Amino acid sequence: MLLFTPGPTPVPESVRVAMSTPTLHHRTPEFEAIFKSARTRLMALLGMDECVMLASSGTGAMQSAIMNLCHKKTLTINSGKFGERFGKIAQALNKEFVELKYEWNTPASLEDVKEVLESNSDIDAVCIQICESAGGLRHPVEEIASYIKSVNSEIMVIADGITAVGVEPIDVSNIDALITGSQKALMLPPGMAMMGLSAKAVEKIGAGADYYFNLATEIKNQRKNTTAWTAPTTLIIGLNAIFDEIDKLGLETLYKETKARSKASLEALKAIGLNIYPTTPALSMSTVIDEDSEKIRKLLKTKYSVNIAGGQDHLKGKIFRINHMGLIAVYEASWVVNAIEMALNDLGRRDFDGVASKIFNEVYFGELSS
Ligand SMILES: *Cc1c(COP(=O)(O)O)cnc(C)c1O
Repeated sequence: MLLFTPGPTPVPESVRVAMSTPTLHHRTPEFEAIFKSARTRLMALLGMDECVMLASSGTGAMQSAIMNLCHKKTLTINSGKFGERFGKIAQALNKEFVELKYEWNTPASLEDVKEVLESNSDIDAVCIQICESAGGLRHPVEEIASYIKSVNSEIMVIADGITAVGVEPIDVSNIDALITGSQKALMLPPGMAMMGLSAKAVEKIGAGADYYFNLATEIKNQRKNTTAWTAPTTLIIGLNAIFDEIDKLGLETLYKETKARSKASLEALKAIGLNIYPTTPALSMSTVIDEDSEKIRKLLKTKYSVNIAGGQDHLKGKIFRINHMGLIAVYEASWVVNAIEMALNDLGRRDFDGVASKIFNEVYFGELSS
């Protein structure tokens, strides 16, 4: 069965092998050396002044960012489940917030952000996804972050890059917190969140807030290559193994291949008459809106051995999502669009003529040689 859900993504075999080594104690020079290597490589990937690894799923880092960086009033962008989550966290923590809400196929507009900031001079943090995975859309984060910083450089820009880090190069010049998680583009099992921080964010954190998720405590420890609490040792060993895999291919090549797979899939899906859901598709996944979504998913799973994701909430049964994150063999990605074309034939919607595969290959290899 091919796992093509936008998280969790398949863990490469070399990484699974690396993680099967005997358990070691986390307060030892041996583990500190492993931690140091992972930290250095993570810092380079994120491109920020500071970074922390947290033993939690991605949501833990989202909560930690809000606890430590949002003091007065927060603007949250909600174009889907994950944007909505920022608001729910703020609410649970009794933090004041305003929310900009959109349909799940619609990215935030700079005009709306401008309006909210102009009428709420007490906003000191903005939370946004780079890619909102609920509908697979890309927000114009660079444009919004740059505007926010031009208004007031003290406003913290918190970017959820869980389905963007490792997918495409990210301009972090106006980002204060860049969040990612182990189980998406970093191809690890679930259980570890990571966050890059700007020098300004570190300053604002000060003595930190909360206990378990106190970022000041973590920064202090992680600068010494240890963690405040027991480290997720196995996942950190795995992270080094992932970086080994990425280095073999080269990060630039990984970005280029991901983009090529993403574009090729999108064109192939359109060529067989399917409708792309988001108005600004992210590179990390392809999202199709279709009344037969559940039938297509079921055929893919039972007949063609491909597991893709559906939708949540009001989009349940209405969309399906195909992952492009991670190190994916091109013949697997091309099989997925071919299988979808075959499923459409099975449903009597369209005679199979192999056009999905044809377009996929033309676009993919065209992109790679450009
Ligand atoms: C997966 C994901 C998360 C984190 O979810 P967890 O289940 O807590 O790991 C957050 N934001 C986005 C955009 C995601 O895709």
